[in-house]
Amino acid sequence: MSSFRHKWQRSMRKLEGGRLVVATHNQGKLEEIVDLLKPFGVQISGAAELGLAEPPETGNTFVENARIKAHAAAKATGLPSLSDDSGIEIDALDGAPGVYTADWAETETGRDFLMAMRVTHSKLVASQKPLPWTSRFCCTLVLAWPDGHDEVFPGVMEGQIVWPMRGDQGHGYDPIFQPQGYSQTFGEMDRWEKNKISHRADAFAKFVKGCFD
Ligand code: IMP
Repeated sequence: MSSFRHKWQRSMRKLEGGRLVVATHNQGKLEEIVDLLKPFGVQISGAAELGLAEPPETGNTFVENARIKAHAAAKATGLPSLSDDSGIEIDALDGAPGVYTADWAETETGRDFLMAMRVTHSKLVASQKPLPWTSRFCCTLVLAWPDGHDEVFPGVMEGQIVWPMRGDQGHGYDPIFQPQGYSQTFGEMDRWEKNKISHRADAFAKFVKGCFD
């Protein structure tokens, strides 16, 4: 192990006490996190189950928004709390939608990701930028404690936007994202395969190394 890595791990605060709040109202994210943390025997509670309010995500970066959610939950419950903020950045659109990824899918009747993907494609065509439309999925996990301390774990998966949409697995923008080094889109991969290489898996590996090892 390099001395840098050793120092990085040593300086992280460990998760102790056996309880963790997952600061999300998104059932899909909660289930994924519960699965990932099964081997560690942590007792997990979700924000909805605890009746926690959803704080407004007023940050301009993934880390700011993840911090808002994790600290709000830690303060309200007195327990360590983990949040996840994620989205897709597209270089030809100057990094958009970025932290506004979910907002691009908002309609009066809920989120519509088919619409969001069509809007994304129209903007790319209008940009007249050449292929490949390089892009990345980003995920930031923040673990916050009630005393105000936090640890931040960024994860990324590079790739490109493809058109037309391909595949009906996954969620969100998966059918138009082809990860680097793969011929399938996230929408064509099975969940197990995607979860091994995704931005969230990258952030989780750092979280587990930093806070459990
Ligand atoms: P958040 O709840 O503010 O973090 O919203 C993140 C948004 O990014 C989600 O609503 C999805 O649209 C998108 N997103 C994040 N991760 C993924 C992924 O793995 N596949 C597809 N879309 C994703």
